[in-house]
Amino acid sequence: MSEICSTCGLPKEICACQTIEKETTTKLKVYTTKKRFNKLVTVVEGLQGNELETGAKELKRKLACGGSVKDGVIVLQGDHLQKTIEYLVKLGYPREIIKT
Ligand SMILES: [Zn+2]
Repeated sequence: MSEICSTCGLPKEICACQTIEKETTTKLKVYTTKKRFNKLVTVVEGLQGNELETGAKELKRKLACGGSVKDGVIVLQGDHLQKTIEYLVKLGYPREIIKT
C-alpha cells in the first residue's frame, strides 16, 4: 500500500502538493544590500528546510564566497545577484516567483 498525502488524501505518487506548493506559496527574494564596512552582500530569503542549508552550501561553493545562514536567510559575501537567481531557477523555482 502506498503512502497517502496528508494534504490532499491522494497516494503520494500522484499527489502534486509539493510541486504546487513550490509554485504558488514559495516566494523567494534575492537582493543585495550593504552590511558592515560598506561591503555588499547578497541575501536570499524564502528557502525552506533542506534547501536552505543545501542552498547555502552550494552557493558558497559555486560562487567561491563566504556566507552564512541565519533566521532562515542566506547571506553571501559580495554581489552575486544574477548567479544566485540562475541557481534558484536551476533548482526548479520559477523565475517569476523570485523577487529582487
Ligand atoms: Zn498531496
